[in-house]
Amino acid sequence: MNPATSADLEAVRDMVNQFMQREVVPVMDGYEKRGEFPRALIRKAGEAGLYGAVFPESVGGTNMGYLAATIIQEEMARNDVRFSACNNQQGSTCPTCIYVGGSQEQIQKYVPNLVAGVTIGMMSLTESGGGSDAAGAMKTFARRDGDVYRISGQKMFASIANETDVGVLLAKTDRDAGARGVSAFIVEPKKYPGWKAQPIDMLGLSNALRTNVVYLDDFVVPVENQLGAEGDGFKIVMRALQPGRVTVGGKALGVARACFEDAVRYANERTLHGQPIGRFQMIQSDIAEMATQIEASRALLYNAAQAMDQNLPSNRISAIAKFHASQTAKLCADKAQQIFGGYGMALEYRVSWLKSYADLFFTGEGSANVQKILIAEDALGYKVADRHHGKTGLRDVRK
Ligand SMILES: Cc1cc2nc3c(=O)[nH]c(=O)nc-3n(C[C@H](O)[C@H](O)[C@H](O)COP(=O)(O)OP(=O)(O)OC[C@H]3O[C@@H](n4cnc5c(N)ncnc54)[C@H](O)[C@@H]3O)c2cc1C
Repeated sequence: MNPATSADLEAVRDMVNQFMQREVVPVMDGYEKRGEFPRALIRKAGEAGLYGAVFPESVGGTNMGYLAATIIQEEMARNDVRFSACNNQQGSTCPTCIYVGGSQEQIQKYVPNLVAGVTIGMMSLTESGGGSDAAGAMKTFARRDGDVYRISGQKMFASIANETDVGVLLAKTDRDAGARGVSAFIVEPKKYPGWKAQPIDMLGLSNALRTNVVYLDDFVVPVENQLGAEGDGFKIVMRALQPGRVTVGGKALGVARACFEDAVRYANERTLHGQPIGRFQMIQSDIAEMATQIEASRALLYNAAQAMDQNLPSNRISAIAKFHASQTAKLCADKAQQIFGGYGMALEYRVSWLKSYADLFFTGEGSANVQKILIAEDALGYKVADRHHGKTGLRDVRK
């Protein structure tokens, strides 16, 4: 058993592995080949409770907390990271925005169905002008017109936006107010006109769960679907992204472990000069580096997740944990590919595309540089990373 976790959490880990091995791994390549969105599998994952760990039972969650959520993401990604591309939409950023920013009516109407995998979620903040400066780059505008808002503009990298039933979208309602001019809306693209999602061709990422450009042309959102008040949007989305760092770090750890496990197996199987390549010291050096960084990432992530579960300051340690886990995923993907030699570039072996996911976790949901800025500014005494503690977490808001 991992020293940082309990027997209960190890049972959750086993349950996730069994679910992935039984329901997802045997069929996911088929979904990828067909480019088919795995809606039925997402429903099953919702029924199994894989999206509900951080939500209370009153909205269909299991209330197990962030350490459990991190372990779930780790094991899902380790088994098939392509399928875990919708975890944010069903169990993290999308329902968390609604949970922290919504009215009781909105929460009850939308969160239980997202967590159960009945409706498909989405959260769209980024625009082409720059994800790391999301508020500054935002041009999409929501204009009030009687009982509705009409939203026009273009969102970038909106994952699952081509399939979503219920998402959260950020748009400006005041062009001159910076982050305070950003508002959040619950969007239902299948119900209202003006929404066009165009999947983006991405190197090495899923062909079934896609990220999109979204073109909005007077897209209609009823006023009752506004989250919070006008101008609350940026605050709401930051509250959702901050806890997501640790769970995204869990996905990066899962990718690192998948690379490591494949590399160990291959190093034992592949023989050159009459012996398994695992006997060569330079291959052993790679294996040792991977194992060491995986253990370090795991310790950091579980530590940060436990701090969140205990409502201790966690922003700084979460940034460190996410940064480390994304570096570990990159290192392990790189070393695994080298150990596989030319076969590491053949699509038949997943190490060929796991590298793209390692790159994604380095960039997405707060890039490595953005994490480094937060860590360094805290160390240098310029900005205390945990200055908002007690005012931003999912638990703080609904205590
Ligand atoms: C597959 C995929 C799925 C995604 N899904 C979603 C989604 O569902 N919803 C959503 O809203 N977004 C999504 N994103 C967007 C993602 O969050 C952004 O890509 C990320 O925030 C970085 O933004 P950017 O790509 O515009 O890079 P930029 O912000 O332009 O950054 C470019 C480079 O500059 C660096 N940088 C930025 N600021 C600084 C600084 N101050 N100092 C030094 N260096 C800096 C960055 O680290 C990076 O290396 C997704 C992206 C991808 C690739």
